[in-house]
Amino acid sequence: MSSSTAPYIGRFAPSPSGPLHMGSLVAAMASYLDAKVHQGTWLLRIEDLDYDRNLDGADAAILATLQRCGMAWDGEATWQSRRLPLYESALKRLRDDRLVYACGCSRKEIQDSVLQAGLPKNGAAVYPGTCRHGLAPGKAARALRLRVPEAPAVYGFVDRWHGAQQQDVAEEVGDFIVLRGDGYWAYQLAVVVDDGEQGITDIVRGADLLDSTPRQLYLQDVLGLPHPRYLHVPVVNNDLGEKLSKQTGALAFDTGTPALDLLESALLPAARFLGFDLRADSLDDFWRQAVPAWAELLSDLK
Ligand code: GLU
Repeated sequence: MSSSTAPYIGRFAPSPSGPLHMGSLVAAMASYLDAKVHQGTWLLRIEDLDYDRNLDGADAAILATLQRCGMAWDGEATWQSRRLPLYESALKRLRDDRLVYACGCSRKEIQDSVLQAGLPKNGAAVYPGTCRHGLAPGKAARALRLRVPEAPAVYGFVDRWHGAQQQDVAEEVGDFIVLRGDGYWAYQLAVVVDDGEQGITDIVRGADLLDSTPRQLYLQDVLGLPHPRYLHVPVVNNDLGEKLSKQTGALAFDTGTPALDLLESALLPAARFLGFDLRADSLDDFWRQAVPAWAELLSDLK
């Protein structure tokens, strides 16, 4: 199903594990500009379901920084933690369709059986399907997994930045978790349910999620949701080549940073990272130039 004729609805969906940093700012800017170029709607959704990683006050700090940078979202911001019934009803549908099962495997057990089978793929443990036909006697359920089709289960899409992508979800991922052992909803399920419920037509986010997209396409299919268009922007790495995050020493923009400093230390470098080098003397001037600059960059990508 394609959503190409629907009016553009985009979103930025940060996890509140820390304040906005250069990596998340780049994703925010790209999704904001893409919505503006398409005269679309830009929603803000706080993805706060991984309660162990949430940092107190980080959601408010992210909202404040976006506002101070001049990126105004449409409508009310949403918090995934306030939308739990949506995930419940998606799970019910998956259960009714017999697509989920309880898994009792620990991470270590999965790693061991993958190694025994000699199948480690890209260093990631592909779930070997141990509990597919029921829990072994004496095993307690830890998580709920979604059954993926038998291989080949190839899910492909054309990324607007990276071009054609595909992944055999059975070979490279295996049955994946939708409800974690700690009772938290898994990112993959929640993001697909929310994007569907909010009518998102265009997802613009960091390329670290490129390999999650085939799982999300599969989930959209089994939940009867349309496939959005995707654009994954390059990830900002630190000097060690690691993805920037709070843990790898990302620079956080303080809510007290003056607007001109935000322009110099955040917006102009983020735009440069995305591939357009602007000279601007105010936030308004920056955005006036950035929208057509993004449109031109997109036409070069085609
Ligand atoms: N919450 C995710 C993150 O902050 C992004 C999810 C998405 O854009 O699909 O990395």
